[in-house]
Amino acid sequence: GESYLNNWIAQHITFDMRNQMYQHLQKMSQRFFTTNNQGDIITRMTSDIDGVKAVVTNTFSSILSNSITLIIAMIAMFQKNWILALVGIIIVPLFTLPTRKAGKKRWTLTNESQQVNDEVNGILNETLSVSGQLLVKLFGKEKYEYERYEKANRRMIGLNIKESMAGRWFRVVLTTFTSVGPMLLYLAGGILMMKYNSDLTIGDITVLVALLGRMYMPVNSLLNIQVEWIRSMALFKRIFDYFDIPVEIENAKDAVTPDKVTGDVVFEHVEFSYEESKKILKDISFTLNAGKSIAIVGPSGSGKSTIVNLIPRLYDVDSGSVTFDGIDVRKLDLKFLRDQVGVVTQDTYLFNGTIKENLLYAKPDATEEAMVEALKKANIWDFIEKQEKGIDTEVGNRGLKLSGGEKQRISIARIILKDPTIFIFDEATSALDSISEKKIQDAIDPIIKSKTSILIAHRLSTILAADEILVIKDGTIAERGTHKELLNKEGVYRELYETQFSKALIEEDGVSELEQYIWGAQPADEPMDE
Ligand code: ADP
Repeated sequence: GESYLNNWIAQHITFDMRNQMYQHLQKMSQRFFTTNNQGDIITRMTSDIDGVKAVVTNTFSSILSNSITLIIAMIAMFQKNWILALVGIIIVPLFTLPTRKAGKKRWTLTNESQQVNDEVNGILNETLSVSGQLLVKLFGKEKYEYERYEKANRRMIGLNIKESMAGRWFRVVLTTFTSVGPMLLYLAGGILMMKYNSDLTIGDITVLVALLGRMYMPVNSLLNIQVEWIRSMALFKRIFDYFDIPVEIENAKDAVTPDKVTGDVVFEHVEFSYEESKKILKDISFTLNAGKSIAIVGPSGSGKSTIVNLIPRLYDVDSGSVTFDGIDVRKLDLKFLRDQVGVVTQDTYLFNGTIKENLLYAKPDATEEAMVEALKKANIWDFIEKQEKGIDTEVGNRGLKLSGGEKQRISIARIILKDPTIFIFDEATSALDSISEKKIQDAIDPIIKSKTSILIAHRLSTILAADEILVIKDGTIAERGTHKELLNKEGVYRELYETQFSKALIEEDGVSELEQYIWGAQPADEPMDE
């Protein structure tokens, strides 16, 4: 019964801890996940919590049973002879001397070994993931990575051995004290019997020595528990360090959930930085009216993705505001807000599962027809139809059994199914070849034309589909307007056009048609401004 209870309590404590930690981590901002080592997160969720479980499993019942044994043994001794009982107890405080030291040592070693554990988990996580392993193979770094892993692993076993040995001398000291007790008792008993003629018998002294053994045993166990407890504080600390990280992006207490939204987005004097010292966005103001589309262009690293990250509150502004339908996004219910925004990024993430499962992630109650329709709109149905298992085809880890373009189009189907109020395409086509890109372009064009959308783009054809173009440079809006207006300005946009867009244009199919669109009635080979 006791065993069952112990296990039940320990398992449920860790069960609750894990669930709470998972929930807490889910509330952490992107900042947390981009900054912290993955191995660190995994160790805390697994071995730190398991370590706590090991301590908790026997601690409570052991404290109870040992305390009862201790009290009974002491009462029995005092009843037999109070003087000898005192002699036996007098050395007990000595037992506690090494406890703190042993506990502290184990605390330090546990801390160190868990840090190495973080490192080991980090290496595993990085090098045994699909992308990590690809990098290892292509750079021929197998040996290097193995050695790195082996080294960390060796450090860990070294620390583990040290840690279990750290308790040894502590036990030796305790055993020594334990044997000193009976000696003292025989000595004091003998003196009492011979010198003071007390009515003590040899039998009484033997009984007292036996009782003393009974008393020291629980004292030893309790001190061992104390050492274990001090050690486990290292684990608790690591766990609570995480629990203590404040939630950065939280639902406001008075969060509102509007009944109907149109989709107007307004940025007003937005300033933002990832790290205090480096301002990324400076005084960004623009309006995206419902039903319209904006293209954001600019050199790499100028802050384009950062701007769109602020809309679904992946980060909050430092100053200024981002409003959605006139309501500050920080005031909107977070789930509601994120339901209104659909983002397709360059680095598409599909979960390991079937295409259908990945689509249902966006809309769990979607019918098969709705899914097929979304896949058709995303220009991927032809491909899926040809697959033996159709929509039940497995996509593999991170969707890596599919090509970049296929993955991207499935992620577009996922967004179409989600049907958000605002669509955001963050360089959705930049990593693709021109044929894949054309298919994606055809899929997103109708969305750009009919829905409220923001597109971060580096291809001219995408940019041209938008109603307005914002040119971002060094975190500010350097220019804004239509393609023609911007070209005439001879500024950043013109420069980008000459270095990036026009090159892409030549690569594309249907150049002349596009050029006609750009240059209007002018002949394609005559630059507009001449
Ligand atoms: P763009 O989309 O225009 O290429 P980003 O918005 O991704 O640019 O990045 C703007 C700047 O912010 C870059 O200098 C980049 O180094 C920095 N940055 C981006 N993400 C983070 C992050 N999570 N933490 C710290 N700095 C970041």
